[in-house]
Amino acid sequence: MNAPQHTQASAMAEVLEIQRAAFAADMLPSAAIRRERLQRLHALVADNEEAILDAISADFGGRSRQEMVLTELFIVRSAIRQQRHKLGRWMRPRRVATPLHMLPGSSQLMPQPLGVVGNIVPWNYPLQLALVPAAAALAAGNRVMIKPSELTPAFSRLLAQLAARYFHPSELAVVEGGVEVSREFSALPFDHLVFTGSTAVGRQVALAAAHNLTPVTLELGGKSPAIIDDSCDLAESAPRLTFGKLFNAGQTCVAPDYALVPRARVADFVREVSAAAAAMYPQFGGNEQYTSIISERHHARLQQLVRDAEAQGATVVRLGEGSGRRMAPVLLLDVTPDMAVMREEIFGPLLPVVPYDTLQQAIAFINERERPLALYWFGRNRSNCSKVLKSTISGGVTINDALWHAAQENLPFGGVGASGIGAYHGEHGFLAFSKQKPIYRQARLNGFGLFRPPYGRVFDALAGFLKRHM
Ligand code: NAD
Repeated sequence: MNAPQHTQASAMAEVLEIQRAAFAADMLPSAAIRRERLQRLHALVADNEEAILDAISADFGGRSRQEMVLTELFIVRSAIRQQRHKLGRWMRPRRVATPLHMLPGSSQLMPQPLGVVGNIVPWNYPLQLALVPAAAALAAGNRVMIKPSELTPAFSRLLAQLAARYFHPSELAVVEGGVEVSREFSALPFDHLVFTGSTAVGRQVALAAAHNLTPVTLELGGKSPAIIDDSCDLAESAPRLTFGKLFNAGQTCVAPDYALVPRARVADFVREVSAAAAAMYPQFGGNEQYTSIISERHHARLQQLVRDAEAQGATVVRLGEGSGRRMAPVLLLDVTPDMAVMREEIFGPLLPVVPYDTLQQAIAFINERERPLALYWFGRNRSNCSKVLKSTISGGVTINDALWHAAQENLPFGGVGASGIGAYHGEHGFLAFSKQKPIYRQARLNGFGLFRPPYGRVFDALAGFLKRHM
């Protein structure tokens, strides 16, 4: 089966037409058909693991294999497996309670696929972010078009080839190309569009989709805070926080961006984080378990964030030596809100430490900024934890660790405000790519004729009854 590998605007539109026509011919694929598609998606990954990891690593200029096994292979296979096992139950029409005054009619929700789902993918978890939404979209009975990132050209080429080998283009197709192709892709009249990437580009995608009234799921980024509570055991928490920060060298949408630390504990925090980083990575330069920064441009951007902070008075604590694009982590103390590192999403191994005196201050610091994608809280004091949960709004939360809520596939994953619109993962993914069609079925014998004109005494009596009881 040959899918087009290099598609530009008209060719992309053609694939969309092919998918639309195929969808129109089978608007409610059976569970067996959906499972078989997911089986092929699983095989696409399982049969080609080594080639996939090699391609991603080549694109990064060195990416930790162990991290890829966890976050690309395991998460994708587990998501496909869950969708395959559960879709039979999720696709069943569900009865909904009917209020007394509408009896004896009955009500139900009928899940229906939307049609063709587009998916624009960033470079940082290229397989996961291409295929987890695709798995949910296929499970829900849709067709899928994927546009991977131009920053992962080896992976994008491989994914296009594999998609063509395992799928007919009417089922799932991959479009390669640069930013211009992504822009044209976002302007196609999909039935739903998923975009994972930066908030700035997310805005442009939302505008393009609005033109077609295409509903969007926007999985964006932002500055996710980690609050170290005064009740926190740093020896336990620092390794967990450091793991979350240095996984994929900080190039994770839900990575803790900065840490809010009680002022009196900043020195201890620096010591514990330094020790945790050294224990996990005896060296950074040349360490194959430590991931490189994706491109020269991003590497230069991160170096510039450090220089800018230092020039404005920050204290720079380097946790080791890097080499090439393997950048050693840097703690930044005495930061101010004006520094670029406190204004932009960092997306790299830099951790600004923001001291606070009262919990209220820490909460206010978070609430003065855009709503974050993730929030982390470390400590033992339950009432402080509850106060933070009740007084902040974020896409998701992990308590006493970092990142893991995003891996719990039964929890919806998505941002709020500037960190995103909508959510997926597990059943939430199935629902995101389905229309839950409400159906009210009228009974043969019913009292609704009494509501028809000409209105008179019967209607007034009924209206009076409803007024008294509602
Ligand atoms: P990006 O926004 O630069 O690019 C993402 C994708 O958008 C790429 O495939 C690119 O080709 C495409 N694109 C670029 N310009 C476009 C345009 N004008 N119209 C349509 N598409 C366009 O993001 P990135 O650098 O690839 O990824 C990093 C960002 O992604 C970070 O902000 C990170 O937080 C975020 N992210 C979020 C999640 C999440 O699930 N919420 C996951 C991973 C990454």
